[in-house]
Amino acid sequence: MAARDPEARQAHKQAVKEAKAAKRLQKQGLGDPMAGAKPCTLCDRPRNLLVRCQVDASGAWQMACGRCWLAASGGQVDGAASHPHYRRVVLPSPRGVRQ
Ligand SMILES: [Zn+2]
Repeated sequence: MAARDPEARQAHKQAVKEAKAAKRLQKQGLGDPMAGAKPCTLCDRPRNLLVRCQVDASGAWQMACGRCWLAASGGQVDGAASHPHYRRVVLPSPRGVRQ
């Protein structure tokens, strides 16, 4: 560790400061719009919106970006006859939730 090195300490301080500033911007919605994006499991491109779905006979869940989802599902939310292996995760309806 270079903790005793004053220059390294300064650099670390600066890095922390910048990270904090970036976080603050993020909270205000002014940060990098791709921050927090996760890579599509099918094409590896980072996307903010991923659809959890199965796309093939393996039954493995994928996080697909819009483009891969479109290719996998045939553009139909609940699957198309031409894409028999496609399944999307079904989220429980908030109406059915008891409090
Ligand atoms: Zn993709």
